[in-house]
Amino acid sequence: MELQERLNEVRSHIAAAERRAGRAAGSVQLVAVSKTFDADQIRPAISAGQRVFGENRVQESQGKWPELKAETPGIELHLIGPLQSNKAADAVALFDVIETIDREKIAHAIADEMKRQGKSLQLYVQVNTGLEPQKAGIAPDDTVAFVDLCRKELGLSIEGLMCIPPAEENPGPHFALLAKLAKQAGVEKLSMGMSSDYETAVAFGATSVRVGSAIFGAR
Ligand SMILES: *Cc1c(COP(=O)(O)O)cnc(C)c1O
Repeated sequence: MELQERLNEVRSHIAAAERRAGRAAGSVQLVAVSKTFDADQIRPAISAGQRVFGENRVQESQGKWPELKAETPGIELHLIGPLQSNKAADAVALFDVIETIDREKIAHAIADEMKRQGKSLQLYVQVNTGLEPQKAGIAPDDTVAFVDLCRKELGLSIEGLMCIPPAEENPGPHFALLAKLAKQAGVEKLSMGMSSDYETAVAFGATSVRVGSAIFGAR
């Protein structure tokens, strides 16, 4: 199957999941995760009308996205991987959305850089819903207080929450927990669901899904 067919298939699965969940058509944004694929492999997705992309590494993204963004206006690039504070300046310069704010130090670094560069990015807090030691993200119990701190002390506007459920578990309870925390913290957006579970995520209220291999193929 060609990339364009796979992309259309994912789009129609999202539309069907929206209908089944009684949600408005187009209420779920598709973030096409292009990590490990180079500019030539990403261009067909842009030609097919895709404008929102996700990458998990700052340095890898710097090798392809300045060029791709210059070619096509209206690209929205999401950082969905862990961020080190020494990469904050580069991340703020290149990305439009950072989904992985998960500790005070990085929140400070991003706030400082946005001020310095005169840029305002959309920000999400990443939640480690499975409390996995190897995974980034703030603990569920600390999420509401952390969102408050980002808003009140750092002046950041946090628009959403993001999670990556444990690979071997049923994702539903993790999506439900993220939705509950978002309500408690007063944030609107929910970034959840990947190739294997994005339709489930739509049923649980995802406002964006991050889909890589189902569009670009195996990595
Ligand atoms: C790679 C990645 C995805 C996409 O995963 P697929 O299983 O290829 O769809 C989604 N979210 C994050 C944070 C990722 O790193």
